[in-house]
Amino acid sequence: MASERTEKEQHFIKLLKQNALKVTPHRLRVLQEITHKDAAISQPDLEKIVGKDIDRVTLYRILSSFEDKGIVHKIFDLNGTATYAICSAECSADHHHDQHVHFICSVCNSVFCLQEISLPKIPVPPNFTLHSIALNAVGLCDSCQKEA
Ligand SMILES: [Zn+2]
Ligand SMILES: [Zn+2]
Ligand SMILES: [Zn+2]
Repeated sequence: MASERTEKEQHFIKLLKQNALKVTPHRLRVLQEITHKDAAISQPDLEKIVGKDIDRVTLYRILSSFEDKGIVHKIFDLNGTATYAICSAECSADHHHDQHVHFICSVCNSVFCLQEISLPKIPVPPNFTLHSIALNAVGLCDSCQKEA
């Protein structure tokens, strides 16, 4: 569906501009791939998909700039592999507001954002600084459930 793709692409262009990032085909491509499926995409998978067009160093730079700007967030799957998911609109540079629970499938290792379940406030000892909380729900995703 060409019209849908255009709409999505326009949204990405706006997103990049809002975050003072130059609109480049590489950046648009990475955003397309990250949002392609419901599940988050792992860095190795992303490398496999875009590897022909974008070298690893460039991809790494794109991902870390997206993370800094609050465009994507990183989740570690059950193997400790970095996976990326698109952020909610409230996220901004250096401030992710979308701290939520992630569901990880124990069979296929897919990571899903459970946007509606926010993380509890964790009181930390004095002089401690909290940077992030990771809370994962582990189980079977719908497609693995069907196969079981
Ligand atoms: Zn975020
Ligand atoms: Zn699964
Ligand atoms: Zn998420």
